[in-house]
Amino acid sequence: MDATCARAEQLRLPSVAFTEHADLTPWVVRPGDAMPDVLARWLRPDGRVAPRPLDVEGYLACLQRCRERYPELRILSGVELSEPHWHPEQTAALLAGGRFHRVLGSVHSVGGRAEPRLVDHAMGDTAAADVVRSYLAEAAVMAASDAPFSVLAHIDYPVRHWPVDAGPFRPADFEEEFRAVLTVLAASGRALEINTRVPLAPELVAWWADAGGDAVSFGSDAHRPADLANGFAAAADVALGCGFRPGTDAAGLWSRRA
Ligand SMILES: [Zn+2]
Repeated sequence: MDATCARAEQLRLPSVAFTEHADLTPWVVRPGDAMPDVLARWLRPDGRVAPRPLDVEGYLACLQRCRERYPELRILSGVELSEPHWHPEQTAALLAGGRFHRVLGSVHSVGGRAEPRLVDHAMGDTAAADVVRSYLAEAAVMAASDAPFSVLAHIDYPVRHWPVDAGPFRPADFEEEFRAVLTVLAASGRALEINTRVPLAPELVAWWADAGGDAVSFGSDAHRPADLANGFAAAADVALGCGFRPGTDAAGLWSRRA
């Protein structure tokens, strides 16, 4: 976090948000699933991967140290809730006290609450297009829920795991499904994240505006200091082209009403 703040200052960013993961879903893993170290260390005897709970106190203490060290930088607290609509009690407990400025909701799995499979693993079980459709169906359910998040993270998450042999990913092949998610998200009053890990396809931002979506956030999903704000110039161009504008708060969302 310290190195990320140093990078933010170097880039002259006015603000940074650390949306730390709160992975609430214990994912089912099967023999043959890729298990990088980050997952392997969370493997339970019952064959599920259950990330450790977020150390909120440790996180906030670190955030405070960063604020003292980088007084010029606006450092927002944040959390990325994985499938919060499946975990209302845990979510409520985590958010009690209102200690997070930026609360993202995200889907990382398909298969439903009873048999949740990480998207990257599911790509090995099922045709890639079916995984995308299942993913978007779940994202629509989450967007329609009353789960307490304000920004939908990485609506195109399965694209990160899209198999090379399936050819290039074409958002237009899933236009109806994407638009369905965006419509319920807009009705909920939440914002759409323009995640630049894989640059969000410009047509998705246009469909978001069509759906009546009011606001966007920018997320580089960096995980490493060197990746902070990667792709933001291009993402800002896309957002501007769709009518989104920055407001007076440099740490705020961009809005079509700004
Ligand atoms: Zn995520």
